[in-house]
Amino acid sequence: MPPFDQAPRLVTSFIDGAFVGDRGGYRIPNFYPGNGQQFSALQEADAAEVDHAVRVARAAFREGPWPRMSIEERQDILMRVHDAIIAHADELALLECLDTGILMREIRGRHLVRAAYNFRFFAEAISQQPDEAWSQQKGYFTYVTRDPVGVAGLIAPWNAPLALASMKLAAATAFGNCCVLKPSEQTPTSLPRLVEIIEAAGMPRGVINVVNGRGSVTGQALVEHPDVDVVHFTGGTETGRTIARTMGGRLRRAEMELGGKSANIIFADANLDRALDGALVSIFSNSGQQCLAGSRILVQDSIARDFIAAFVERAARIRVGDPMAADTEMGPIASEAHRRRILSFVDIARGEGARLLTGGHALDRDGYFMAPTAVMAASNGSRVCQEEIFGPFASFLTFRDAEDAVAIANASQFGLVGYLWTQNLDTAMRVSRRIETGVMWINTPLNRELRAPFGGVKDSGTGRDGAASSRAFFTVERTTTLPIEDIPLRRFGAEAVD
Ligand code: NAD
Repeated sequence: MPPFDQAPRLVTSFIDGAFVGDRGGYRIPNFYPGNGQQFSALQEADAAEVDHAVRVARAAFREGPWPRMSIEERQDILMRVHDAIIAHADELALLECLDTGILMREIRGRHLVRAAYNFRFFAEAISQQPDEAWSQQKGYFTYVTRDPVGVAGLIAPWNAPLALASMKLAAATAFGNCCVLKPSEQTPTSLPRLVEIIEAAGMPRGVINVVNGRGSVTGQALVEHPDVDVVHFTGGTETGRTIARTMGGRLRRAEMELGGKSANIIFADANLDRALDGALVSIFSNSGQQCLAGSRILVQDSIARDFIAAFVERAARIRVGDPMAADTEMGPIASEAHRRRILSFVDIARGEGARLLTGGHALDRDGYFMAPTAVMAASNGSRVCQEEIFGPFASFLTFRDAEDAVAIANASQFGLVGYLWTQNLDTAMRVSRRIETGVMWINTPLNRELRAPFGGVKDSGTGRDGAASSRAFFTVERTTTLPIEDIPLRRFGAEAVD
């Protein structure tokens, strides 16, 4: 039995340094994907509670110490947050695992390290970026500084709550903003506790507030709130479109990190052992529930038969099971409804003339487990190649040559990341720059360089995360001009008449 008693029975909003407590209202049950049992419930924040959270954030921004601190003071606190996350890693990992079903060792070894590092990274980044100055205009000196933007609405998905939301929190706060975070209603537990830990480490009260609830209620109230200056959103493309419309109507900026259907292109001259490992890890880690999954695998036709056979053999041997066990390779799907949706693509694939290569079924045990799945798609136009399935579901295609690979990869509404495997430098350079995507990985999967921009093109999003890009989003420029010579002014009311 998982240690359900270590999670709160009721998850509420965290506003102005305290949980709001049990006050009735709409509740959402929270199930552990590892066995399908309910372990807690979420108390939904309505529009009034969201309004309260935004007011608290605004007050912290207008009157509180955070935006007025020196960079060094802010850095000290962000570094203490880093250390506090590491110190509470076991507790946070357990809550995250109960919420999501992500493997405990992945959360502990990667997600939490990343969550902590996000704060350290932005602590360092804020002291390294120069402001602009212009002196070309004769007699004047102009400088450009950046102010925090104000109150940020941060909306997170369920597939990696701590790793993804911590990036938003670290970036928004490091540049001096105050914020209201809305986690996914499917995974509400770990983030309020994270924020409590962040405050205990020294972040002033009210700088970060958390509201929990459904997107259509709590999320929408946040996006529509007139006192929210920017929204940083990670989630599905259609939700992103809705939020972008609302924010556009309010003439406020929104950054969108959305879905993907990324092409993983494997040339015959690749190091095929590494390409095979890379293909497996990019579609089956986190049970394929990753925006940057390599879910469309394009293999050059001369090696396709052997490569796909090797992939299928390895996929069938993946140890699927208890996310808390140390030797598990793939855990459950995050919810029953999501597993049903993923498995519905098996019938869709068959109907489209695809061939099931492996998996395609739920596992006969408690919890939301399914077998790692792969299909040979009938064409790139089929739904299994065009829609984001967001599960352990690989769609294979073959290609003739570089032209063909580029054409197939780009025939997609999405453009988040791309993978390319070849030992030929010329192919690597020429093909990679023609793939319509925000990020390319050549001969390596899933690498994240926080200093560099991350984000998508086309329906995969707008804007970028990264040191300079996050600064651009979470601050506003202020241009200040002053004379440095004695510049004569017109003297209205005192001008001599000829
Ligand atoms: P989702 O769009 O259903 O929900 C994301 C968040 O938006 C949740 O907190 C939800 O409650 C909220 N929301 C929903 N409707 C809303 C509304 N009208 N107004 C305000 N908020 C609203 O996405 P999901 O299912 O939680 O996450 C999976 C998706 O996220 C996938 O498409 C995946 O590719 C994407 N994703 C993208 C990235 C990236 O960096 N590009 C990273 C991770 C996940």
